Amino acid sequence: MLLVTGGSRGIGAAVVRLAAGAGYPVAFTYVQDAAAAESLATDIGAGGGRAFAVRADVAVEDDIVRAFDAAEAELGPLAGLVNNAGITGPLRRVEAVDAAMLERVFAVNVIGTLLCAREAVRRMSTAHGGAGGAIVNVSSVAARLGGPGDYVHYAASKGAVDSLTVGLAREVASEGIRVNAVSPGLIETEIHAATGDPGRLARMVPGVPMRRAGTAEEVAQTILWLLSPAASYVTGANLDVSGGR
Ligand code: NAP
Repeated sequence: MLLVTGGSRGIGAAVVRLAAGAGYPVAFTYVQDAAAAESLATDIGAGGGRAFAVRADVAVEDDIVRAFDAAEAELGPLAGLVNNAGITGPLRRVEAVDAAMLERVFAVNVIGTLLCAREAVRRMSTAHGGAGGAIVNVSSVAARLGGPGDYVHYAASKGAVDSLTVGLAREVASEGIRVNAVSPGLIETEIHAATGDPGRLARMVPGVPMRRAGTAEEVAQTILWLLSPAASYVTGANLDVSGGR
């Protein structure tokens, strides 16, 4: 069973669809958009796949443990985790940030990712009697570009995701678990409107070497490859899916 955090919309939903189509039973979490989550699970069921939506805020430790338990009870042992849930927080320069906003961004993007990884290692590591598996963390090219003027806070949180990807990959490499990251560039999803500046994506596209935004499906394809046996000797890698940006 594959668990995808933040699977109701955007990149996560594309991963859920592709993975279900490839035969994985897929559990996914969401927070607010129950309608989107239920409609995705229903669509996949209608197409002959197996999907299970569970409401769980990755910033809340009890929610995470409950989601993993519920997913395993419904769909069987965990074989893969996609740490996709993430938020940018509002666009603002560093002189305008406040602690509450920073705490929320880091709670979702960094602590949530680490706690989900903890649950996955406890369940998949051969050192704990598990059968091994794969983890893919969704980072961002912002970790390397820095997000100046927009969201240095978000870029810094994704920098932490990059570090934990390398560290965890090496920590569990001999226990049957591969850990990798993808770093999307500008991808067409609702995350941009959520920043409060829906026109930002279109304004930035001319700076992308391929001169276009990417799709959630293009990111999902890379994630599916990293999860698959085709990537059996790949761990600690971080693949840009950014049109050259
Ligand atoms: P999105 O369209 O805004 O979708 C976010 C998804 O995450 C939704 O399913 C949302 O569920 C869920 N979610 C949000 N907060 C959550 C929480 N605390 N706990 C559990 N689920 C939560 O975002 P996206 O563009 O697909 O982004 C997905 C990932 O890609 C993020 O990590 C983001 O940082 C990264 N990324 C995106 C881009 C881009 O250009 N789109 C670029 C680089 C990296 P509800 O709606 O139900 O709350």
